[in-house]
Amino acid sequence: MAKDSDSRPGLTRRDVITSAGVLAGGLALGGCKYGTQAYLASKVPPAQPRPEWADARVHAYRPLGSTGFRISDISFGSAELDNAEIVRSAVERGINYFDTSPDYSNAKSERAIGEGISGTPRDQLFLASKFCTPNGHLPDRVAVKDAIRAVEDSLLRIGTDYLDLVHIHAVNSIERLMAPNIHEAFDRLQEAGKVRFLGVSSHTPDLEMVMRHAVDSDRFHVIMVAYNYDYWPGIGEIFHDAHEKGVGVVAMKTLKGAFHNKLDDFSDTEQEAFSQAALKWVLSNRDVSGLVISINRPDQVNEYLMASGRPFEASDQALLERYDALAGSLYCRPGCGACLSSCPNQVPVDDVLRWRMYSENYGRHEEASNRFAALDPRRSTDGCVGCSAPCADACPHGLPVQERLLGASRILRGRA
Ligand code: SF4
Ligand code: SF4
Repeated sequence: MAKDSDSRPGLTRRDVITSAGVLAGGLALGGCKYGTQAYLASKVPPAQPRPEWADARVHAYRPLGSTGFRISDISFGSAELDNAEIVRSAVERGINYFDTSPDYSNAKSERAIGEGISGTPRDQLFLASKFCTPNGHLPDRVAVKDAIRAVEDSLLRIGTDYLDLVHIHAVNSIERLMAPNIHEAFDRLQEAGKVRFLGVSSHTPDLEMVMRHAVDSDRFHVIMVAYNYDYWPGIGEIFHDAHEKGVGVVAMKTLKGAFHNKLDDFSDTEQEAFSQAALKWVLSNRDVSGLVISINRPDQVNEYLMASGRPFEASDQALLERYDALAGSLYCRPGCGACLSSCPNQVPVDDVLRWRMYSENYGRHEEASNRFAALDPRRSTDGCVGCSAPCADACPHGLPVQERLLGASRILRGRA
């Protein structure tokens, strides 16, 4: 059965194995000064590469809308990246699309991408970044000159003359999607040859509304959308229309929470096969141009590229259904938001649970805890203590919302 780490009586088999390794590693490094570090290291999903995955490479490329570029079906997401060698390995294996952002790893991700692609002809790569600074997303009303400078700073960090694509990131409203200053900044940057295409990314409750408007607006060349197995009932039609209009479709958040290494009832074989099954499901939709998945460990290049160009099979379907049965009540669906209006304190439940997931399942604790710390105190999870939790009744997916939030608070404050 699925286990919520708030309530589980013990660690999973892999946590135990990994914890032992971490303790040994921590001692070799002089020991962890803070308990938080030991906790975090024990929570990072372990690498269990199979020998047959070695040297996996890209086997399929698909057109990215009408950009004229064919991207690797499995492409490179770079949250928490700070290692150029991983980028170099990805290029050697055929990955040609790299998604980064100034606020990934406090700008180290863009620098690692720049270093890792050096020596590769620029026109063989497709580089995407975001209208952001290392401190976070640009506000809707940012001055045009500041939006331009943000992209120019990205160019300097990456060491390139142009971006292929710049996203308006984490869009949760039409106002943000069509913010005139950001569009003017894009037009000027495009005119100056500093960016080629405009994109939009979203993983919010209003995702379908935002993406429908983006596709219909004829302003966007690419949409990047949270998309995973058995979710987003209305998104298929939007993808189809995007495909018909020549708008590229890039999927993200494809592992549906990446709880697979934390499920006690998932066998080692199932844990190892899960990510490839999830990626193959995404790519079985031919309206999807490709997907980006965060790669910040060398073994992940092998693991994920094993799914490239491969068909989605009945055994994959069975595995995804089993994952859903085990992890369904742990995973806060991006874009759901059904509980938000029930909370008297306007706690951003979906954001907080996404940050928890970043910390627990993706090894992105620093970023997640920084975001949590920046939360408006009036909307913090402190009010969850002693609350009657109408949010839990409002969740159609059966999440123990209050318990998950209180656990998130402990984890993101480093008190777990
Ligand atoms: S437990 Fe109460 S305060 Fe916390 S999110 Fe739910 S409704 Fe809001
Ligand atoms: S906790 Fe449940 S209702 Fe709230 S956003 Fe997540 S999945 Fe939706």
